[in-house]
Amino acid sequence: MKYLLLIPDGMADWRIEELGNKTPLEVADTPNMDFLAKEGACGIAETVPKGYEPGSDIANLTILGVDVRKYYTGRGPIEALAKGIRGKIVFRCNLVYVENGIMVDYSARRIEDEEAKEVIDALNEAVEYDFVKFHHGTSYRNLVTIDREFDENVKTTPPHDIQGEPIAKYLPKNGELANLLIELMEISKKVVPEVTRKANMVWIWGGGKMPKFPNFERRWGVRGVMISEVDLLKGIGRGLGLEVVDVPGVTGYIDTNYKGLAKAVLKSLKRRDFVVLHTEGIDEIGHEGDAEKKVEAISIYDEKIVGYIIDRIDLEETRIMLLPDHPTPVRVKTHVAEPVPFLIYGLKRDDVRKFDEFSCRKGMFGLINGLKLMDIMFAR
Ligand SMILES: [Zn+2]
Repeated sequence: MKYLLLIPDGMADWRIEELGNKTPLEVADTPNMDFLAKEGACGIAETVPKGYEPGSDIANLTILGVDVRKYYTGRGPIEALAKGIRGKIVFRCNLVYVENGIMVDYSARRIEDEEAKEVIDALNEAVEYDFVKFHHGTSYRNLVTIDREFDENVKTTPPHDIQGEPIAKYLPKNGELANLLIELMEISKKVVPEVTRKANMVWIWGGGKMPKFPNFERRWGVRGVMISEVDLLKGIGRGLGLEVVDVPGVTGYIDTNYKGLAKAVLKSLKRRDFVVLHTEGIDEIGHEGDAEKKVEAISIYDEKIVGYIIDRIDLEETRIMLLPDHPTPVRVKTHVAEPVPFLIYGLKRDDVRKFDEFSCRKGMFGLINGLKLMDIMFAR
Protein backbone atom coordinates (compact mmCIF):
# COMPACT_ATOMS: atom_id res chain seq x y z
CA MET A 1 0.00 0.00 0.00
CA LYS A 2 1.15 3.56 -0.80
CA TYR A 3 0.17 6.55 1.30
CA LEU A 4 -0.30 10.05 -0.07
CA LEU A 5 -0.95 13.08 2.12
CA LEU A 6 -2.09 16.23 0.31
CA ILE A 7 -2.07 19.50 2.25
CA PRO A 8 -3.40 22.57 0.43
CA ASP A 9 -2.36 25.24 2.95
CA GLY A 10 -5.18 27.49 4.12
CA MET A 11 -7.87 26.05 1.86
CA ALA A 12 -10.69 25.97 4.43
CA ASP A 13 -12.77 29.10 4.81
CA TRP A 14 -16.06 30.52 6.03
CA ARG A 15 -19.31 31.02 4.16
CA ILE A 16 -19.23 34.46 2.58
CA GLU A 17 -21.99 36.67 1.26
CA GLU A 18 -20.07 37.53 -1.89
CA LEU A 19 -20.22 33.85 -2.84
CA GLY A 20 -23.93 33.48 -2.11
CA ASN A 21 -23.28 32.38 1.47
CA LYS A 22 -21.01 29.57 0.46
CA THR A 23 -17.38 28.85 1.15
CA PRO A 24 -14.80 29.07 -1.66
CA LEU A 25 -14.46 25.29 -1.45
CA GLU A 26 -18.24 24.84 -1.79
CA VAL A 27 -18.29 27.07 -4.86
CA ALA A 28 -15.13 25.85 -6.57
CA ASP A 29 -15.28 23.21 -9.27
CA THR A 30 -13.67 20.22 -7.54
CA PRO A 31 -14.71 16.96 -9.23
CA ASN A 32 -11.54 15.16 -8.15
CA MET A 33 -11.66 15.99 -4.46
CA ASP A 34 -15.40 15.25 -4.53
CA PHE A 35 -14.69 11.86 -6.09
CA LEU A 36 -12.22 11.02 -3.31
CA ALA A 37 -14.70 12.17 -0.67
CA LYS A 38 -17.54 10.19 -2.25
CA GLU A 39 -15.51 6.99 -2.55
CA GLY A 40 -13.82 7.55 0.79
CA ALA A 41 -14.69 8.81 4.25
CA CYS A 42 -14.63 12.25 5.83
CA GLY A 43 -14.56 14.22 9.04
CA ILE A 44 -13.23 17.41 10.53
CA ALA A 45 -10.03 17.69 12.52
CA GLU A 46 -8.67 20.06 15.12
CA THR A 47 -5.13 20.81 13.96
CA VAL A 48 -4.32 23.58 16.44
CA PRO A 49 -4.31 22.64 20.13
CA LYS A 50 -5.94 25.08 22.52
CA GLY A 51 -3.72 27.98 23.50
CA TYR A 52 -1.53 27.79 20.38
CA GLU A 53 -1.34 30.22 17.48
CA PRO A 54 -2.81 28.79 14.27
CA GLY A 55 0.52 28.85 12.46
CA SER A 56 1.40 26.48 9.65
CA ASP A 57 4.18 25.03 11.82
CA ILE A 58 1.80 24.07 14.63
CA ALA A 59 -0.94 22.77 12.33
CA ASN A 60 1.30 20.70 10.06
CA LEU A 61 3.20 19.17 12.96
CA THR A 62 -0.13 18.13 14.48
CA ILE A 63 -1.29 16.62 11.19
CA LEU A 64 1.95 14.63 11.04
CA GLY A 65 1.29 13.27 14.50
CA VAL A 66 3.69 15.43 16.52
CA ASP A 67 2.21 16.63 19.79
CA VAL A 68 3.32 20.27 19.85
CA ARG A 69 2.58 20.51 23.56
CA LYS A 70 5.45 18.09 24.03
CA TYR A 71 7.84 19.01 21.23
CA TYR A 72 7.29 22.59 20.11
CA THR A 73 9.77 25.11 21.52
CA GLY A 74 9.03 28.06 19.25
CA ARG A 75 9.27 29.41 15.74
CA GLY A 76 12.99 30.03 15.92
CA PRO A 77 13.99 26.36 16.12
CA ILE A 78 11.58 25.41 13.31
CA GLU A 79 13.03 28.12 11.08
CA ALA A 80 16.53 26.95 11.94
CA LEU A 81 15.54 23.42 10.90
CA ALA A 82 14.15 24.85 7.68
CA LYS A 83 17.41 26.62 6.91
CA GLY A 84 19.61 23.74 8.01
CA ILE A 85 21.07 25.79 10.89
CA ARG A 86 22.24 23.83 13.93
CA GLY A 87 22.47 24.87 17.55
CA LYS A 88 21.36 23.59 20.92
CA ILE A 89 19.13 26.61 21.47
CA VAL A 90 17.61 28.87 18.81
CA PHE A 91 15.64 32.10 19.01
CA ARG A 92 14.10 34.46 16.52
CA CYS A 93 16.05 37.69 16.39
CA ASN A 94 14.18 40.63 14.87
CA LEU A 95 15.84 43.86 13.87
CA VAL A 96 13.59 46.44 15.52
CA TYR A 97 13.31 50.16 16.05
CA VAL A 98 12.83 51.39 19.60
CA GLU A 99 12.37 55.02 20.60
CA ASN A 100 12.42 56.28 24.19
CA GLY A 101 12.02 52.72 25.37
CA ILE A 102 8.92 52.15 23.20
CA MET A 103 8.73 49.46 20.48
CA VAL A 104 8.08 51.57 17.41
CA ASP A 105 8.71 49.11 14.59
CA TYR A 106 9.11 45.33 14.96
CA SER A 107 10.16 45.02 11.30
CA ALA A 108 12.93 47.65 10.97
CA ARG A 109 11.01 49.31 8.14
CA ARG A 110 11.37 46.12 6.10
CA ILE A 111 15.14 46.54 5.93
CA GLU A 112 16.75 45.19 2.74
CA ASP A 113 18.53 41.85 2.93
CA GLU A 114 21.93 43.26 2.18
CA GLU A 115 21.78 45.85 4.91
CA ALA A 116 20.36 43.34 7.38
CA LYS A 117 23.19 40.98 6.61
CA GLU A 118 25.72 43.69 7.38
CA VAL A 119 24.06 44.21 10.75
CA ILE A 120 24.22 40.48 11.47
CA ASP A 121 27.91 40.36 10.53
CA ALA A 122 28.62 43.32 12.81
CA LEU A 123 26.81 41.61 15.67
CA ASN A 124 28.86 38.46 15.22
CA GLU A 125 32.00 40.61 15.31
CA ALA A 126 30.95 42.39 18.47
CA VAL A 127 29.74 39.49 20.59
CA GLU A 128 32.58 37.68 22.28
CA TYR A 129 30.88 34.47 23.36
CA ASP A 130 31.98 31.73 20.99
CA PHE A 131 28.74 29.79 21.58
CA VAL A 132 26.55 32.65 20.32
CA LYS A 133 25.98 33.12 16.63
CA PHE A 134 23.61 35.37 14.70
CA HIS A 135 22.24 34.16 11.36
CA HIS A 136 20.71 36.28 8.66
CA GLY A 137 17.33 35.12 7.36
CA THR A 138 15.28 37.54 5.30
CA SER A 139 14.98 41.25 5.96
CA TYR A 140 14.31 41.93 9.65
CA ARG A 141 13.74 38.23 10.41
CA ASN A 142 16.89 36.62 11.71
CA LEU A 143 17.98 33.92 14.11
CA VAL A 144 20.41 33.58 16.96
CA THR A 145 21.80 30.22 18.03
CA ILE A 146 23.26 29.46 21.44
CA ASP A 147 25.35 26.35 21.43
CA ARG A 148 25.47 25.70 25.15
CA GLU A 149 23.23 23.85 27.56
CA PHE A 150 20.77 25.88 29.61
CA ASP A 151 18.15 24.19 31.70
CA GLU A 152 15.41 26.72 32.04
CA ASN A 153 12.70 27.75 29.62
CA VAL A 154 12.85 31.44 28.91
CA LYS A 155 9.71 33.49 28.60
CA THR A 156 9.88 35.90 25.67
CA THR A 157 7.39 38.16 23.88
CA PRO A 158 6.88 38.58 20.11
CA PRO A 159 7.80 42.14 19.13
CA HIS A 160 4.73 42.51 16.90
CA ASP A 161 2.60 42.05 20.02
CA ILE A 162 4.13 45.04 21.83
CA GLN A 163 4.11 47.76 19.18
CA GLY A 164 3.71 51.10 20.96
CA GLU A 165 4.49 49.63 24.37
CA PRO A 166 7.49 50.02 26.68
CA ILE A 167 9.93 47.19 26.02
CA ALA A 168 11.24 47.06 29.59
CA LYS A 169 8.14 45.15 30.69
CA TYR A 170 8.66 42.46 28.06
CA LEU A 171 12.35 41.59 28.28
CA PRO A 172 13.17 37.85 28.48
CA LYS A 173 12.43 36.35 31.88
CA ASN A 174 13.64 33.33 33.84
CA GLY A 175 17.21 32.92 34.93
CA GLU A 176 20.60 32.66 33.35
CA LEU A 177 19.63 32.23 29.72
CA ALA A 178 17.21 35.17 29.92
CA ASN A 179 20.04 37.29 31.29
CA LEU A 180 22.26 36.28 28.40
CA LEU A 181 19.55 37.27 25.90
CA ILE A 182 19.14 40.64 27.59
CA GLU A 183 22.89 41.14 27.48
CA LEU A 184 22.92 40.40 23.73
CA MET A 185 20.11 42.90 23.20
CA GLU A 186 22.10 45.50 25.17
CA ILE A 187 25.19 44.93 23.02
CA SER A 188 23.04 45.29 19.91
CA LYS A 189 21.96 48.79 20.97
CA LYS A 190 25.51 49.95 20.32
CA VAL A 191 26.25 47.82 17.25
CA VAL A 192 23.08 48.07 15.16
CA PRO A 193 22.83 51.89 14.82
CA GLU A 194 26.42 51.96 13.58
CA VAL A 195 25.36 49.98 10.50
CA THR A 196 21.80 51.05 9.70
CA ARG A 197 19.28 53.73 10.47
CA LYS A 198 16.31 51.43 10.01
CA ALA A 199 16.86 49.51 13.22
CA ASN A 200 18.58 50.30 16.49
CA MET A 201 18.60 46.99 18.33
CA VAL A 202 17.63 43.33 18.09
CA TRP A 203 14.68 41.75 19.83
CA ILE A 204 15.13 38.13 20.79
CA TRP A 205 12.04 35.92 21.14
CA GLY A 206 10.21 32.78 20.04
CA GLY A 207 12.72 30.08 20.82
CA GLY A 208 14.19 27.48 23.06
CA LYS A 209 15.85 24.14 22.72
CA MET A 210 16.09 22.60 19.29
CA PRO A 211 13.31 20.01 19.32
CA LYS A 212 13.91 16.34 18.65
CA PHE A 213 10.83 15.19 16.79
CA PRO A 214 9.95 11.51 16.80
CA ASN A 215 11.30 9.83 13.68
CA PHE A 216 8.42 9.28 11.24
CA GLU A 217 9.71 6.04 9.79
CA ARG A 218 10.35 4.48 13.17
CA ARG A 219 6.90 5.46 14.36
CA TRP A 220 4.79 4.51 11.35
CA GLY A 221 6.95 1.99 9.57
CA VAL A 222 7.10 3.80 6.23
CA ARG A 223 9.87 5.68 4.50
CA GLY A 224 8.57 9.04 3.46
CA VAL A 225 9.14 12.05 1.26
CA MET A 226 8.24 15.69 1.93
CA ILE A 227 7.52 17.91 -1.05
CA SER A 228 6.77 21.54 -0.31
CA GLU A 229 7.16 25.00 -1.74
CA VAL A 230 8.22 26.56 1.57
CA ASP A 231 11.23 26.19 3.87
CA LEU A 232 9.04 25.77 6.94
CA LEU A 233 7.58 22.47 5.76
CA LYS A 234 10.89 21.25 4.42
CA GLY A 235 12.34 21.91 7.87
CA ILE A 236 9.53 19.99 9.53
CA GLY A 237 10.09 17.17 7.06
CA ARG A 238 13.79 17.09 7.82
CA GLY A 239 13.07 17.17 11.56
CA LEU A 240 10.88 14.10 11.17
CA GLY A 241 13.48 12.25 9.14
CA LEU A 242 11.57 12.50 5.86
CA GLU A 243 13.49 12.88 2.62
CA VAL A 244 12.98 16.37 1.23
CA VAL A 245 12.45 16.56 -2.54
CA ASP A 246 12.84 19.98 -4.16
CA VAL A 247 10.82 20.93 -7.21
CA PRO A 248 12.18 23.59 -9.59
CA GLY A 249 10.06 26.54 -10.64
CA VAL A 250 7.66 26.60 -7.70
CA THR A 251 6.40 29.99 -6.57
CA GLY A 252 4.21 29.26 -3.56
CA TYR A 253 1.47 31.07 -5.42
CA ILE A 254 -1.41 30.41 -7.85
CA ASP A 255 1.06 30.50 -10.77
CA THR A 256 3.25 27.72 -9.38
CA ASN A 257 4.72 24.79 -11.26
CA TYR A 258 1.77 22.42 -10.70
CA LYS A 259 2.99 19.87 -13.18
CA GLY A 260 6.42 19.75 -11.56
CA LEU A 261 4.86 19.23 -8.13
CA ALA A 262 2.44 16.54 -9.32
CA LYS A 263 5.18 14.73 -11.22
CA ALA A 264 7.45 14.84 -8.17
CA VAL A 265 4.66 13.15 -6.21
CA LEU A 266 4.27 10.39 -8.81
CA LYS A 267 8.00 9.80 -8.95
CA SER A 268 8.39 9.78 -5.17
CA LEU A 269 5.48 7.37 -4.76
CA LYS A 270 7.34 4.89 -6.93
CA ARG A 271 10.37 4.97 -4.64
CA ARG A 272 8.76 5.46 -1.23
CA ASP A 273 5.59 4.38 0.54
CA PHE A 274 4.60 7.72 2.02
CA VAL A 275 4.57 11.11 0.28
CA VAL A 276 3.47 14.50 1.60
CA LEU A 277 2.68 17.30 -0.81
CA HIS A 278 2.19 20.66 0.85
CA THR A 279 1.28 23.58 -1.43
CA GLU A 280 1.17 27.22 -0.42
CA GLY A 281 -0.72 29.18 -3.10
CA ILE A 282 -4.28 28.93 -1.77
CA ASP A 283 -3.17 30.23 1.62
CA GLU A 284 -1.51 33.26 0.02
CA ILE A 285 -4.76 34.15 -1.69
CA GLY A 286 -6.60 33.78 1.61
CA HIS A 287 -4.19 36.37 3.02
CA GLU A 288 -4.97 38.65 0.09
CA GLY A 289 -8.66 38.39 0.95
CA ASP A 290 -9.81 37.73 -2.60
CA ALA A 291 -12.79 35.33 -2.56
CA GLU A 292 -13.14 34.88 -6.32
CA LYS A 293 -9.45 34.24 -6.74
CA LYS A 294 -9.52 31.69 -3.94
CA VAL A 295 -12.32 29.82 -5.72
CA GLU A 296 -10.18 29.82 -8.84
CA ALA A 297 -7.08 28.66 -6.98
CA ILE A 298 -9.01 25.75 -5.45
CA SER A 299 -10.40 24.70 -8.83
CA ILE A 300 -6.93 24.76 -10.33
CA TYR A 301 -5.54 22.74 -7.42
CA ASP A 302 -8.27 20.15 -7.91
CA GLU A 303 -7.49 19.79 -11.58
CA LYS A 304 -3.74 20.19 -11.78
CA ILE A 305 -2.71 18.49 -8.56
CA VAL A 306 -5.44 16.11 -7.41
CA GLY A 307 -6.81 15.23 -10.85
CA TYR A 308 -3.40 14.90 -12.46
CA ILE A 309 -2.19 12.57 -9.73
CA ILE A 310 -5.24 10.32 -9.36
CA ASP A 311 -5.42 9.82 -13.11
CA ARG A 312 -1.93 8.37 -13.02
CA ILE A 313 -1.74 6.18 -9.92
CA ASP A 314 -3.13 2.81 -9.00
CA LEU A 315 -6.05 3.85 -6.82
CA GLU A 316 -6.50 0.29 -5.56
CA GLU A 317 -3.05 0.41 -4.06
CA THR A 318 -2.99 3.99 -2.77
CA ARG A 319 -4.52 5.53 0.29
CA ILE A 320 -4.99 9.29 0.02
CA MET A 321 -5.62 11.78 2.79
CA LEU A 322 -6.37 15.39 1.90
CA LEU A 323 -6.84 18.34 4.22
CA PRO A 324 -5.76 21.95 4.70
CA ASP A 325 -3.56 22.64 7.72
CA HIS A 326 -5.81 25.47 8.94
CA PRO A 327 -8.47 27.79 7.51
CA THR A 328 -7.33 31.14 6.10
CA PRO A 329 -10.70 32.89 5.70
CA VAL A 330 -10.65 35.65 3.10
CA ARG A 331 -12.84 37.76 5.34
CA VAL A 332 -10.12 38.03 8.03
CA LYS A 333 -7.12 37.45 5.74
CA THR A 334 -5.34 35.43 8.37
CA HIS A 335 -5.21 31.95 9.89
CA VAL A 336 -7.83 30.87 12.39
CA ALA A 337 -7.74 28.00 14.87
CA GLU A 338 -10.82 26.14 13.72
CA PRO A 339 -11.29 22.52 12.64
CA VAL A 340 -10.57 21.70 9.00
CA PRO A 341 -12.36 19.21 6.72
CA PHE A 342 -10.45 16.05 5.83
CA LEU A 343 -11.00 13.09 3.57
CA ILE A 344 -9.42 9.68 3.48
CA TYR A 345 -9.68 7.57 0.38
CA GLY A 346 -8.89 3.87 0.41
CA LEU A 347 -9.83 2.96 3.97
CA LYS A 348 -13.59 3.16 4.49
CA ARG A 349 -16.64 4.74 2.92
CA ASP A 350 -19.32 7.00 4.31
CA ASP A 351 -22.19 9.04 2.89
CA VAL A 352 -20.32 12.28 2.25
CA ARG A 353 -20.42 13.05 -1.45
CA LYS A 354 -18.66 16.38 -1.64
CA PHE A 355 -15.46 17.70 -0.14
CA ASP A 356 -16.13 20.93 1.74
CA GLU A 357 -16.22 22.34 5.25
CA PHE A 358 -19.90 21.56 5.84
CA SER A 359 -20.30 18.22 4.06
CA CYS A 360 -17.34 16.78 5.96
CA ARG A 361 -18.95 17.56 9.31
CA LYS A 362 -21.42 14.79 8.55
CA GLY A 363 -18.69 12.29 7.80
CA MET A 364 -18.19 9.08 9.76
CA PHE A 365 -15.22 10.38 11.72
CA GLY A 366 -17.06 13.44 13.03
CA LEU A 367 -14.79 15.85 14.89
CA ILE A 368 -11.41 14.41 15.78
CA ASN A 369 -8.19 15.57 17.39
CA GLY A 370 -5.71 16.24 14.58
CA LEU A 371 -3.15 14.05 16.33
CA LYS A 372 -5.30 11.06 15.32
CA LEU A 373 -4.95 11.72 11.60
CA MET A 374 -1.87 9.58 11.09
CA ASP A 375 -3.53 6.75 13.04
CA ILE A 376 -6.31 6.92 10.45
CA MET A 377 -3.86 7.22 7.58
CA PHE A 378 -1.99 4.08 8.59
CA ALA A 379 -4.92 2.14 10.08
CA ARG A 380 -5.11 -1.50 9.07
ZN1 LIG B 1 -0.82 31.54 5.89
